Parts: sequence; C-alpha cells; structure tokens
Amino acid sequence: ETYVPKYVEVNYIEGSDDTNWSKRDFSWTKKLEANNKRVFGNHSFRPNQREIINATMSGNDVFVLMPTGGGKSLTYQLPALICSGITLVISPLVSLIQDQIMHLLQANIPAAYLSANMEWPEQQEILRELCSENCSYKLLYVTPEKVARSDALLRQLENLHARELLDRIVIDEAHCVSQWGHDFRPDYQGLGILKQKFPKVPVLALTATATASVKEDVVQALGLVNCVIFRQSFNRSNLRFSVIPKTKKCMEDIHNFIKDNHYDECGIIYCLSRMDCEKVAEKLQEYGHKAAFYHGSMDPELRASVQKQWSKDEINIICATVAFGMGINKPDVRFVIHHSLPKSIEGYHQECGRAGRDGQISSCVLYYSYGDYIRVKHMLSNGAVEQSSFASGYPRAGATNSGRTLETNTENLLRMVSYCENDVDCRRFLQLVHFGEKFDSSNCRKTCDNCLNTQTLVDKDVSEIAQQLVGLVKSVRQQFSASHILDVYKGSNSQIVKRNKHDTLSLHGAGKHLAKGEASRVLRHLVVEEILVEDVKKSDLYGSVSSVLKVNEKKAGNLLAGRQTIILRFPSASKAPKSFRNDATPAKGSLTSSKQTPVPVEAPASAQPQTVVDKELSA
Ligand code: ADP
Ligand code: MG
Ligand code: ZN
Repeated sequence: ETYVPKYVEVNYIEGSDDTNWSKRDFSWTKKLEANNKRVFGNHSFRPNQREIINATMSGNDVFVLMPTGGGKSLTYQLPALICSGITLVISPLVSLIQDQIMHLLQANIPAAYLSANMEWPEQQEILRELCSENCSYKLLYVTPEKVARSDALLRQLENLHARELLDRIVIDEAHCVSQWGHDFRPDYQGLGILKQKFPKVPVLALTATATASVKEDVVQALGLVNCVIFRQSFNRSNLRFSVIPKTKKCMEDIHNFIKDNHYDECGIIYCLSRMDCEKVAEKLQEYGHKAAFYHGSMDPELRASVQKQWSKDEINIICATVAFGMGINKPDVRFVIHHSLPKSIEGYHQECGRAGRDGQISSCVLYYSYGDYIRVKHMLSNGAVEQSSFASGYPRAGATNSGRTLETNTENLLRMVSYCENDVDCRRFLQLVHFGEKFDSSNCRKTCDNCLNTQTLVDKDVSEIAQQLVGLVKSVRQQFSASHILDVYKGSNSQIVKRNKHDTLSLHGAGKHLAKGEASRVLRHLVVEEILVEDVKKSDLYGSVSSVLKVNEKKAGNLLAGRQTIILRFPSASKAPKSFRNDATPAKGSLTSSKQTPVPVEAPASAQPQTVVDKELSA
C-alpha cells in the first residue's frame, strides 16, 4: 500500500527520458525497501520518492519539485545509507541541519555538519574523520558559504572523490540559487563549482518552490546535465483560498472570521512590518484571542519561547513577519491570514502551505488593498522589508536592497497584485500557473472565492486583443516585460514607454478603451497557452535579471492568421465589481455581499464543477 498525503492530487513525472523509474527490479530495490522500513520506520514510499531514489541511484542528475512536507529528505538519506561512501548535503540553515542530524543520529545513521560559526578545533576533527581510512560518516551537511569559501573543505572533497567515496551531492532548497526566486542567496551561486570539480558525481537538487524560470536558472547555475525532473502537483485541495478587500475595520473582520470559523484553533497571521505584528496581536488579545507576535527584532529567547508556546497550543495565533516559517512543522495550523499583500505568488503559496499539513480543511485569507501595494513597493525600494526564514543568523547579502533585484521584486509584486485584483479565475489555477502547472478549474469544486462567486459571467471574444498583444510583443523586438507591454497597450506615456514608442507603431494605446484588468487577463491567457512565453533576460553588465515576453511562433501562427478564436469569460458589466481601491470603510449594509467574506470552512461539497473557462476553435 502507498501512503498518499491527502493534499497530493496529481502526481506526474516530467522526465527527459522514458525510463520507468518506478520499476521494482533495480539491484538496490530490496535493500531500499528493507531500510525504509527498518531504519526510517516508514511503511511505504510517498509519491515520487521511489522514482527519485531510483533516478539518482542510477547516476543521473535529478531535479525535484515537491511541496513542503512531501518527504524530500528521504530521497537522499536512504540512498546515502545504502551506498558505501559519503553524501554531501548543502543546506541553507544551521538550525535545519541540526534538526536533521539529530534525527539521523537517533536512527543510528552517522552524520556530521560543518558551518562557518563552528569552533575551528571541532571543524578540524570532522575534516580529519573525513580523510581517515574508514570514515564513518554517511552524510556530511554543509552550509553554502562553506563550499564557496573553504579550501580545506574542497580539498577534503577532492580527497574523498579520489578514493571514490563521494557518492552524491545534494542541494537542498535549491531555489536559493536563483535571483528569480524569493529566497536568493548569493553563496548558492558558487555551487556550480561542485559540478565542475566532480562532473561524474550525481547531483540531486531539491526544492518546494520553483517557477519555470527558477528551474532553468538552477539547472544552469549548478551545471546539471541531462537532468531528470520530478515535479509534483502543488495544488493543496484541503486549503480554502479567498481575497478580501481590506478596509479600516479589517481587524474586526479578522476577529469575526476566526470566531466564526476557527474558534480556539491554531493559525498564523502574516504582517508586513514588525510594528504591524505587535499591533495586530494586541488587537486580537483585546478581542479575547490567545495571540502573540513574532518578528526579527525580538529577543531570540523570547522568540523561541513564543514559538514553543505556540507549538504546545498555549498560544493559538502568531502574528508574524515572513521570518516565521521555515522549519515550522505544526500539522494542525487551521488558518493562514495575510494582513497585507505578500511580496510574490511563490512566497504566498509557501506561506499558505503552512496551513493544513495534516490534510484537514484549512483557510487562507488575504486582506488586500491597493494602498498596501504602494506600501510594499515603497518598502522594497528602500530594502526595508523583513526577509524570510533565513534571517536567523544569516546575512542575506542585500538581495533586495542592492537595487540589483529591485526590478525582479517589483515584477513579482505586480503579479501578486494582479492575483488579488482578479475576481474571475480560480485561485488555484492562478497560483499553479505560476509554477508552470496547468490546473483544471473545475477541480477546485468551489473551494476558492472566485469559483464560489455567483456573479454572472459573460463570454467575450478576445481574439483581436490577443492578436494585438502578440503583435506588440513582436514590435518591441521581444525585449520587454508583461507590465511594459500592458502599459504601451493602454497608451501610457511614461518615460520608458515614450523612449521606445517608435517601435510600437499603431498599437500604442490600442487597448485604451478596455475595462480594467481585461488586457492583462488576455495577456496572461496567452502566456498560459504558451503563445507568449516569459523568458529571463540577464544583463551581462550588471548580472541583473528581468522577465521578457517572447512570441512562440509555433503556437502563435493560428491566432495571427485568424484561424484561432479565443473566448474568455468576464463578469457581466451590470454588477459592480468589488472595490479594492477603496480603502475607506464600506457603507453599512454593503457588507453582506458574498465577496466581502472569506470562503467558509464548510464549502458546499456537492458543488457542480465549473464549466470550461475558454474555448478554442483550432484549424
Ligand atoms: P520536505 O523536505 O519535503 O519538506 P521532509 O523530508 O522533512 O519533507 O519530510 C516531512 C515528514 O514526512 C517527515 O516527518 C518525514 O519523516 C515524513 N516522511 C517522509 N517520507 C515518508 C514516508 N515514506 N512515509 C511516512 N512518512 C514519511
Ligand atoms: Mg526539506
Ligand atoms: Zn477555484
């Protein structure tokens, strides 16, 4: 029997070859299964674990995308156990490493780690053990800066390699390699040296968060060759997603939501600033909730104690910056509320992912106002936004405030805004598209606010708009981002648009008359259908990255020749859309609209699957 976590729905493999990785007649299969039971105490493998292990054991470079909690560690710990040499694991966070080592030692698997803040004698002892005749370690964990900066370590690795004892190199949290990801760490970029030095040693790169562009970046930077890719659906069917307009009485809304849906249950409220955390916690305490705050400038001891009280259910609600997250494995988090706009869809998905690890229905509610967008944008450009999890003890080398990645950050933020402002498409669909995954909205079964929404929708033929947008992408010589294209299309006269206006011919302003959000939906649809592709552009001069739209000639042909009709569904104009730009308290009585309250925990189970959103008439 296979144990399938409840939230894993689709389980597909995208490999660069046709090998059947789930075969059970590899020479190591028996040993693998026996050790999985005996040493790790698992009854079976989770989705993709067996396949990943077989691919890496066969000597391939492997790239794994698996949601947090999916069981990535086993895919290298088990091979490490049954191979004769040592597995090198690069992991970003000392606390995570220590936690892993503790578990390994409990299972009697010899393991050690090296990090820069260890005493030198202690480091030396480990290095000595590595070069000893019969080194006992099965796994050696190191932080990335060790690889980038320690010659002593590299020499030991060369030595191990020469003795044919370097079995495998594992890059955990591999998305940190990419500036495009939400957790860029400069030291990860130096890891390419490992493949250069040890080209024949298989590399296993693991991450829970990677868009197509991050994946490309990682594969390139690490120098992976013919790598086999395992990707698991990122859909979390037990989570309920809603975006709610944030008003002045947002705190009252949050209180009511928790009281009505998750009374005395455990949850996280993500706030933008440290001050917000404290204010939100205080307000909730006034309402009678057991709440506390958690952020980077707290005394470490106090912080640890808050986290402990929370894990023991003495505190229900943690009001935190994104610093609160990685390594938190509480299975019964029933809600994740965003008190303000997350900085990227990736980050948002990951933060929401901390809810409902046990597979039980849980809520994800985002309170959105356009004002918060301006606020986050401002904070990003000042480098004032608290960074995620890695904050504990690790300098982030100014990934956000260097200006280098400001463009990337702004682009990521804009996508988050467009997610929030979209009141038509399935939230799951919108999130998963971002991970390069096609999700059929009818599988949402009304578990997000947009699918639950009963407002009338009308079909609209947007083929002409689509043709114009594709034309526009071509006329700017495929050098610009989606937001730039939209600006030109809507007739913006900003400096950058003006400077490039001569290229855009008659299409500048061609979309002036369209309703708000219409053009961006068509554009996104074109990206989803791969008629347009989003590419990462690297500028050699400064090493900065940005997103650039290109035309996929193969798929654009039918559309441009008028042989393809694209029909999208829009809210009928008769009903007023929910107003996000209005930060003021709505008039009394207007609050009963279904769009003003989150999806209830008990969503209709027998909901009819939604009909297909768009149709295409291909030649
Ligand atoms: P990830 O790194 O993907 O976030 P972990 O490797 O930390 O996930 O695993 C999450 C949890 O799942 C751990 O508690 C681990 O013991 C458990 N686990 C992993 N594989 C299995 C399995 N095959 N059967 C049962 N539990 C498993
Ligand atoms: Mg992990
Ligand atoms: Zn939906």
